[in-house]
Amino acid sequence: MAYVYDTTNIFARILRGEIPNRTVLETEHTLAFRDIAPKAPDHVLVIPKGPYVTYDHFCAEASEAEIVDFTRAVAAVVNLIGAEAHGAGKGFRAITNAGENGVQEVPHFHLHILAGRCIGPMICTD
Ligand code: 5GP
Repeated sequence: MAYVYDTTNIFARILRGEIPNRTVLETEHTLAFRDIAPKAPDHVLVIPKGPYVTYDHFCAEASEAEIVDFTRAVAAVVNLIGAEAHGAGKGFRAITNAGENGVQEVPHFHLHILAGRCIGPMICTD
């Protein structure tokens, strides 16, 4: 089934400049900004500028340029917030939620980067 992108979602509005954001990094194809309701001292959302609904949508249909740009932007963000797992940083968790079972709230693919404290066990099992 084809992916259907909702152009009214909140991240699309951020990308159009209709809603302010606290930008951490902007590249040709990627924007990284602080989550409005942070779950850790550092909680950054990394999003492609293109209209991708979920991670699998991005992986399947983004161009190589977009994928490389996004991946390198993640590394740059981790470095900018001092969360690299080697060297000075103490590491981070990267999460992406997709669809109903993934409990995705905003239907524009985003990677959560959580850092600044121990993030705890991988998932809640109850
Ligand atoms: P999801 O549940 O879709 O993986 O995560 C959506 C995230 O977007 C949540 O962590 C939520 O706090 C964040 N968020 C929702 N609306 C806004 C907004 O207007 N600005 C920012 N910066 N983050 C938002």
